[in-house]
Amino acid sequence: MSNLDTPENERFRDSLGTMTEEGKRAWVYPKKPSGKLYQYRKYVSYILLAFLFAAPFVKINGNQFLLFNVLERRFNIFGFPFWPQDFYLFVIMMIIGVLFIIFFTAAFGRIFCGWICPQTIFMEMVFRRIEYWIDGDRGAQMRLDKQEWNAEKVKKRALKWSIFFIISFLIANVFLAYFIGSDRLIQYVFEGPLDHISTLISLFIFTGVFYFIFAWFREQVCIIACPYGRLQSVLLDNKSIVVAYDHKRGEKEVGRAKFKKNEDREASGKGDCIDCFQCVHVCPTGIDIRNGTQLECVNCTACIDACDSIMEAVNLPKGLIRYASEENIEKKIPFKFTPRLKGYTAVLVILIGVLTGLLFLRSDVEANILRLPGQLYEHKENNIISNVFTYKLLNKTTRNIENIHFKLKAPKGTIHTVKQGEIIVPAQDLAEGTLFIEINNSALSGDKNRAVIEVYSGDDLIETTSVTFLGPRSYK
Ligand code: SF4
Ligand code: SF4
Repeated sequence: MSNLDTPENERFRDSLGTMTEEGKRAWVYPKKPSGKLYQYRKYVSYILLAFLFAAPFVKINGNQFLLFNVLERRFNIFGFPFWPQDFYLFVIMMIIGVLFIIFFTAAFGRIFCGWICPQTIFMEMVFRRIEYWIDGDRGAQMRLDKQEWNAEKVKKRALKWSIFFIISFLIANVFLAYFIGSDRLIQYVFEGPLDHISTLISLFIFTGVFYFIFAWFREQVCIIACPYGRLQSVLLDNKSIVVAYDHKRGEKEVGRAKFKKNEDREASGKGDCIDCFQCVHVCPTGIDIRNGTQLECVNCTACIDACDSIMEAVNLPKGLIRYASEENIEKKIPFKFTPRLKGYTAVLVILIGVLTGLLFLRSDVEANILRLPGQLYEHKENNIISNVFTYKLLNKTTRNIENIHFKLKAPKGTIHTVKQGEIIVPAQDLAEGTLFIEINNSALSGDKNRAVIEVYSGDDLIETTSVTFLGPRSYK
């Protein structure tokens, strides 16, 4: 269907609110939001920003609270260190995270985008507010953009861009702390950044990326780049709660119409929407929510606040734009916990249960005991059968684990390590060595026997593992 064949009221689907007919970027100058929901969003954003900046610098038992060191394959989540050996836990966490997002999107639309997403938080609650402070509100910003370069414009632009750069640099530093660790970042700062030139280059690349996103690319991230935004159309149904315009009430029989003092809108059949465009002017993605749910909408709630203040001013009930499902607007049916949501919840509960169990079972030390390649067994004096193994002990904690020794739990026998003296596994490191297991032939039940080994640190049992112990084939 060509653009000309599209009905007038569907034309908005053929274009993006942030693009001109010639395909050029249409800059959005959203009006400064205000209202109850904006106030709540501010409080949420303060908490999240504090968390985001603090998380790499907070430590639990010496472990960074959140660390994603991809290059060295070291991850800390809520202070729990994860090693490549724990990858299965990481995968389960990722699945839970993805399911959680699917569940929330199916139930509450893009609530994550509007309230929690770091892109929205930084854009709307940090950079945009600086812009309002320097350039003024929507009208002043539009005028400033159009006006010739004069002293005022140069001063405002220089101030704004410098502050944007400094904040981008700060964010890049925190971002780096998540990747290389805050201790290393601080160490590099004190040693002199020029001594760590590759990290310094990465830092400036990150700064450039953040600056580009928040100074220029902005809402395009949500509209064009974000995969989650693209997913929403598959996840939403007519029962999902989204920021929605109540078209039944807004249009009624006659449709929306400008407000006239002392008119009886009820009797005239006019809708409650007074076509003031406040919901459009306040929208940071440049759309008209009255056209229905659109991919550009990040559910930021700015239009709810704007419309509520208009409704209050013209003495009409608030909530013409509100959190509501299509079903709720069409049939006045309240939110229901649908079978789909029940299914998601059940899967989530099971996965969280499995993850909790695995986290409890996970030990601080991982022992890997393997047969020395090419070795079978040795028949020694007094009918003793001896097998030789190599061991690798991985310490996942940030403290040294001392006084390591091995005990054979079953069958009855002894373990001798080749290393003389105390075995210590250094913090976040490996200890390797060789050990012999000796078992009396009479305790063996064939050529292949399961030997259970306990690893102790002092009197504390820290890991249990098993190996295959080889004996003579023709026993008994
Ligand atoms: S703010 Fe409310 S009344 Fe004004 S145009 Fe938007 S929906 Fe209509
Ligand atoms: S339509 Fe409303 S909720 Fe959606 S992005 Fe625009 S202002 Fe925010």
